[in-house]
Amino acid sequence: MENSVQNLLDIENKIKINLNNYKISVSPKIIAVSKTFKIDKIKPLIDHGHIDFGENKVQEAVEKWSEVKKTKPHIKLHLIGKLQTNKVKFAVKLFDYIHSVDSEKLAKKISDESLKLNKKIKIFIQVNIGDEPQKSGVNKNELSNLVNYCLKLKLEVIGLMCIPPEGYDSSDYFKEMKDLSHKFNLSDLSMGMSGDYLKAVENSGTFLRIGSSIFGQRA
Ligand SMILES: *Cc1c(COP(=O)(O)O)cnc(C)c1O
Repeated sequence: MENSVQNLLDIENKIKINLNNYKISVSPKIIAVSKTFKIDKIKPLIDHGHIDFGENKVQEAVEKWSEVKKTKPHIKLHLIGKLQTNKVKFAVKLFDYIHSVDSEKLAKKISDESLKLNKKIKIFIQVNIGDEPQKSGVNKNELSNLVNYCLKLKLEVIGLMCIPPEGYDSSDYFKEMKDLSHKFNLSDLSMGMSGDYLKAVENSGTFLRIGSSIFGQRA
């Protein structure tokens, strides 16, 4: 069996055990983060039947996935990286989910382009949960305004996304994210990466973004 498929099965097993231990009934989805890997590295997972894949660059994703999506429309693509407004048109066309909405300007552009293309796209609002000045994401005190703005635009906001600060235990940040999602009555939480996905599961993460634990180290 291909390494990536075996790795995915191992991860699914660990998650299952954790769900049992914490008596959590909803199974989170695993987004296989395939950034930097070529399609021949990704293909075994596609053939295995995996559905959700994540990319962080629009151009790279368009080159890699446009053809695949034509023949396999059941595959769901997630944009998890920073999105510039001049790339929104291409992002809306290719992706099913955008996880990195963090400004009104970006939200408006996504709304405009999805109306033009007549394509519904699911949105996560990225929260700068560790208040890090260099990080993307909306500040916690501006979150309420941005959620309301997106709802006014009739964007389909399904949840919140975060990348916790490096070098700290993610658990506290994930707990805070869970509280925020309840406060805004949002159903989904995009959080947890290779190093901390089990902690995300414990805190009701619904979309885990896992790259290197599936595909190996990136170059
Ligand atoms: C690369 C990336 C991931 C996956 O990281 P791994 O540590 O390889 O699992 C998750 N989320 C975002 C936003 C990323 O850019």
